[in-house]
Amino acid sequence: MSGSLRVLLVEDSEDDAALTLRQLKKGGYELSSQRVDTPGDMRAALEARDWDIILCDYNMPEFSGSAALSLLHAVERDIPFIVISGAIGEETAVEMMRSGAHDYIMKDNLARLVAAIERELREAKVRRARCRAEADLRLAARVFESSVEGVMITDSKAKILRVNQAFIDITGYSEEEAVGQRPAILQSGRHSKDFYKFMWASITERGFWQGEVWNRRKSGEVFPEWLTISAVCNAAGEVSNYIGGFTDLSRQKEAENRIQHLMYYDALTDLPNKALFHDRFRQSMLRARRDARQVAVLHLDLDRFTNINDTLGHRTGDQMLQQVARRLVSCVRPRDIVARFGGDEFHVALTDLRCGSEVDMQVQNLIAAFSEPFRAAEREIFIVPSVGGVMFPDDSGDFDELVKFADIALHAAKRQGGTSYEFYNASMNDDAVDWLSTESALRRALQREEFRLHYQPQVALDTGKVIGVEALLRWQRADVGMVMPEQFISILEETRLIVPVGEWVLRQACADQQTWAAAGFEPLPVSVNLSARQFRDKGLVDMISSTLEKGGTNPRLIELEITESCAMEDPEFTMQTLRRCHEMGFRIAIDDFGTGYSSLSYLKRFPLDVLKIDRSFVADLPGDDDDAAIVDTIIAMAHRLKLNVIAEGVEAEAQVSFLREHGCDNMQGYHLGRPMSCEDFLVWLSKYH
Ligand code: C2E
Ligand code: MG
Ligand code: MG
Repeated sequence: MSGSLRVLLVEDSEDDAALTLRQLKKGGYELSSQRVDTPGDMRAALEARDWDIILCDYNMPEFSGSAALSLLHAVERDIPFIVISGAIGEETAVEMMRSGAHDYIMKDNLARLVAAIERELREAKVRRARCRAEADLRLAARVFESSVEGVMITDSKAKILRVNQAFIDITGYSEEEAVGQRPAILQSGRHSKDFYKFMWASITERGFWQGEVWNRRKSGEVFPEWLTISAVCNAAGEVSNYIGGFTDLSRQKEAENRIQHLMYYDALTDLPNKALFHDRFRQSMLRARRDARQVAVLHLDLDRFTNINDTLGHRTGDQMLQQVARRLVSCVRPRDIVARFGGDEFHVALTDLRCGSEVDMQVQNLIAAFSEPFRAAEREIFIVPSVGGVMFPDDSGDFDELVKFADIALHAAKRQGGTSYEFYNASMNDDAVDWLSTESALRRALQREEFRLHYQPQVALDTGKVIGVEALLRWQRADVGMVMPEQFISILEETRLIVPVGEWVLRQACADQQTWAAAGFEPLPVSVNLSARQFRDKGLVDMISSTLEKGGTNPRLIELEITESCAMEDPEFTMQTLRRCHEMGFRIAIDDFGTGYSSLSYLKRFPLDVLKIDRSFVADLPGDDDDAAIVDTIIAMAHRLKLNVIAEGVEAEAQVSFLREHGCDNMQGYHLGRPMSCEDFLVWLSKYH
C-alpha cells in the first residue's frame, strides 16, 4: 500500500524532518510536504491546502505538540495527527492521545511509522464516510418531515411504517393511527377493484405508478389527490419498501370548478350566461327536432333599467337584477332555460312547445311576474319588461340568427312602449334598418339644428283667457320633412339623446317666451314635457335651474309636465325631485292623466299644480257615458286635491260645453288651435285677443 501523501511536518529540527521523510519514502510514498515550527506557519499551511496527515514533534522552542493539536481542533479539521517525539514519558503520551492525537511514535522507532500512517488514513476515510452518511440521513429526515407532499413509507407487505407531517395534515390520521395499517384505510370507495389491480400491476412491473386518486380523510371527506407510488429494492433486488407521495388536489379542483362556473354562469345572478344558454339550447333544439316540437327564444329587456342604475346606484340596480332573475326562474317550467347575457338583457328559451297558444300563455306568465313591485333601496319599484320572441324552427334553425331576430322583435316591442311583447316577423328587419338610420340621423339633428318647437295654446273655460301654452317638439328631418314626436321620442329615450335634446327644448322655450313678451304680450306660462328618462337624469334639476338663469326666465312661468305613468314608476323618487322643482318655483303638471294607474295617496303628497285629463277620455265626450263619468270624477277629485284641471284634445264645441258644465278649469286642443311655430303663434295670439 502506498501512493501520494501530503504531509505537514510540525518540527523544529530539519534533520529530524529529513529522517522522517526518508522513512516515508522507503515505505513507497510519493511525498509532498511542508515543515513548520510556529503556530502562525502551521495555521497558514492548514489554510493553504489539504493535508493527509500531520506528523508533529512534541517539544519545540516556539511551539509544542499539544498547542499544535489545539490549533488543529480550533480550525475544525479532521486530519490524522501523529506525535513523533523523543522520550516524553507515558503520562504525557496518554494525555496527548486523550486530547485527540491519533498515535504516538518514538523518534528512535520510526520503523512503525508507515504502518501507523496506513491505519490512520484508513480510519480517517471511515470517519469521513460516516460523517457524510449522517449528514445525508439528517437531510433526508428533514426533507421527509418538511415536504408539503404527504409521504408514507410501507414495508414490502404494504404495511405503513412511517408517515410525515403533511400526511397527518392532509389525511387527518395521526402517526400512531396510521403506522401498522394498510393504505387501504384511505380508500374512498370511488374506484373499482380493477383500478387498484391495474395500479399494483404497474408497480410490480415498473416499480412505479402515478395518477389521480379519490381518497377519504379520517373525517370521512372524500378528496382528490395526485399520487406517486415507488417500490424501493434492497441490494438483492427484492422490494423492501413502498413509498407513496401525494398532493391534495382539493384546492386546485375547487379553483377549476370555480373557473368552470365563472365561464358558464353570470356572476351576479348565477343564471347561465350566453355560452351555457347556447349549449343547453342546442340540446333542446335536438329534442324539438326529434319530437316535432318548437322552441321559443325570448329576449327580455327591462324598460328604464338604466335610469334605476343611474338614480339609485349600481348596488340597487344589481339587487333588482337578482330579484328579476329569481322571479323569471320561478315562473318558467323546469325544462325552460333562463339566462342573462349581461346588463339588463335576459334570455329565456321555452322548450318542447306544441302550439302557439302554449307560447302565448308562457309569455303572459313571464310578464305577469313583473306585476308586483320589486323592493330595493327601501322602496318599491315597478319595472316592466319589453319582450321580443322568435320561434325555432319556423323563423330560423341557427342559434345566432334566432338571437338576432329576438333582438329585432324586442326593439319592435319597445317602440310600442309599456309592457308589450312582439314575435319576430320578416318585415321587422326593415323596421330595424329604419330604426338604425333614424337613430344616426337623430344624433346629427341637434348640430344641424333640425329640431323645432311648436306651441299649442291653453285657454280658461270660463273667461276664455289664454292661460298658457304647451311646447311640443318637432323634427325637421333632412330629405323627409316634419317628423312628429311619437316617431322619434322613444328613440331619443333609448339612446339617451333625450337629455341634450330636452335641454335644447327648455332653452328654446325660454327664448320664444321672450319673443312674445317683446312683442307686447303679457308673459305667458310655457309647459314643457319631460320624458321618463329625462326625469330620472341626475343632472335634471341643475340643468333646469342653470338654463333658466342663463335665459333670465322666472321659474313661475315654466310648467313641467310629467306623465302619470312616469310619476308612478318610483313614487318616492318622484316625490323628492318634484319637491326640489317646486321649491325652485316651477309649476308642475301631471300629463296624460287616466292612462296609467295612480295611487291616490301619492297623488295627494306630490306637490302638483295641474292635472291634465288625457285626450282619449275627451275624444268621445259628451256621448260616451263611461268617459263622461270618468271625466266628471277626475275633475271632482282634482278639485278636492286643489289641482287645476285641463282637458287635452278638445276638438269640438260640444266637448267645450260638457267640460264647462262639469267645472273643468282649462282646455287645450285643435278646437282652439293646432300646435304652431313660434311666429304663427304670435299671429294667433294677436288675432285671438
Ligand atoms: P302630450 O304631452 O300629451 O301632448 C299633447 C299631444 O296631443 C300633442 O301631440 C298634440 O299635438 C296632441 N293634440 C293636441 N290637441 C289635440 C287634439 O285636439 N286632437 C288630437 N288628436 N291631438 C291633439 P304631439 O305634438 O304629437 O306630441 C305627442 C307626445 O310627444 C306629447 O304628448 C308628449 O308626450 C311628447 N312630446 C312632445 N314634445 C315633447 C318634448 O319636448 N319632450 C318630451 N319629452 N316629450 C315631448
Ligand atoms: Mg304634454
Ligand atoms: Mg298629454
